[in-house]
Amino acid sequence: MDRELLNKMFEFHGHKCWASALGLRAGLLALEKLGVKRANVKELFVILETGYNHAAGCFGDGVQFATGCTAGKGNLIKKPRGKLAFTLIDPKQGKQIRMCFNPKIREKIANSSFMKKRSAGVPPTEISPEEVMEVVNLVLDSPVEEVLLIGNVEDSHFDPPHEVMGMAICDICGEMVARPYLRLIGSGQACEVGELKKVCIDCSGYEEGFEK
Ligand SMILES: [Zn+2]
Ligand SMILES: [Zn+2]
Repeated sequence: MDRELLNKMFEFHGHKCWASALGLRAGLLALEKLGVKRANVKELFVILETGYNHAAGCFGDGVQFATGCTAGKGNLIKKPRGKLAFTLIDPKQGKQIRMCFNPKIREKIANSSFMKKRSAGVPPTEISPEEVMEVVNLVLDSPVEEVLLIGNVEDSHFDPPHEVMGMAICDICGEMVARPYLRLIGSGQACEVGELKKVCIDCSGYEEGFEK
């Protein structure tokens, strides 16, 4: 593992941890298996199976950093299953590969002094850098088959979502909103558009109900 790349990833992630390091390793391997380079725009997509508010969700940041499939660009799609797993998709080749944490390494991770302290409720920031790096190195230096379940390169039928370009100004708050997120309020008929207001979800009083 390229230490400079690892440190850049830790900088992006915010702290040093084994789960993000494993995500980086898995993401780089997935790129290699598909024979592709990190996405600059939306050449690739990741379907990430980590969920919300659970242990080791940091894995997802390593995957994002490695693959260039990021929450902001929209080529990171969350399918929350509470698993340290993801599928990397190359729509151009019509190929994909899934990677998942291999539970084989779980006991060794659990027996590290870092994880023993974490389990006892010690915040990661209060654990020594040596103890943190011991478990980081464990997931980076162990044979790859011991830390990851590596899927086969398979055909992909993933249809990349289309990007909606237009933005408009909310008639109430004046803030700019992407068109799919505009709502119409007012009592007018369709032929009396002048009585309708184009507004953002927060000004509309509607439930959100639009996640993608
Ligand atoms: Zn972390
Ligand atoms: Zn508004």
